[in-house]
Amino acid sequence: MALNVCVTVDMEQDCPPYLDTWRGVEQGAPIALELLHEEGIPATFFLTGELARRFPATVRAILEAGHEVGGHGDTHRRFDRMDTEAARAEIRKSTATLRAFCPVESFRAPNQQLPEEYLPLLDEEGYRLDSSAARYKVPRGRVCRAGSLLRVPASVTSSALRLPAWLRDALLARLRDPVVLFVHPWEFVDLTRERLRYDCRFRTGEPARRSLQETIRFFKRRDASFGRMRDLPAVRGLRV
Ligand SMILES: [Zn+2]
Repeated sequence: MALNVCVTVDMEQDCPPYLDTWRGVEQGAPIALELLHEEGIPATFFLTGELARRFPATVRAILEAGHEVGGHGDTHRRFDRMDTEAARAEIRKSTATLRAFCPVESFRAPNQQLPEEYLPLLDEEGYRLDSSAARYKVPRGRVCRAGSLLRVPASVTSSALRLPAWLRDALLARLRDPVVLFVHPWEFVDLTRERLRYDCRFRTGEPARRSLQETIRFFKRRDASFGRMRDLPAVRGLRV
């Protein structure tokens, strides 16, 4: 059976908490959209509510290109640093903002940190899929159900795609189905001279765009099937 690959794009302000600019949305998102168009693959964009309110035209451009929009909290504050009521308010506000554009059923928490006890909050808001977990943080993390939610972990951290090709490809070859890749649009903006943690800034700009393109082509050579997260066979199975 073909390997399922989801390209996902987490969208918020540039590299929080270090920067509070939006160059990723303004300059990086068009580069990501162009690349996905060139490669002819659909993706899932996890957006904060704040971003959708500031940049409604970007949300529309994502949808018009046939991609999925998922929730990513409202302000990109970390869920593991809030109480239940604050977490509920973050999810509720961002979901209402995004659903003014389209149906929303997939979620990823900022920094991939979602305490287990907050999973019912996603259920309350009608989410079907959560991609907050990370295989590279929890060894052998795999797809599992949590009530009516399907949890599909991200496979590899975004900066790993920017590693030298031989190292990156060795890492990619070890990923298991479904492969969930993620990038941020600010990675496609040259941030190499910004005061950031090294893994946030190294090989940003054109090298990051090329790395994503090479990664997509790596999986194309393996006859992978590319889809939005909501189209994963396991998610479609949930709806039957
Ligand atoms: Zn994020």
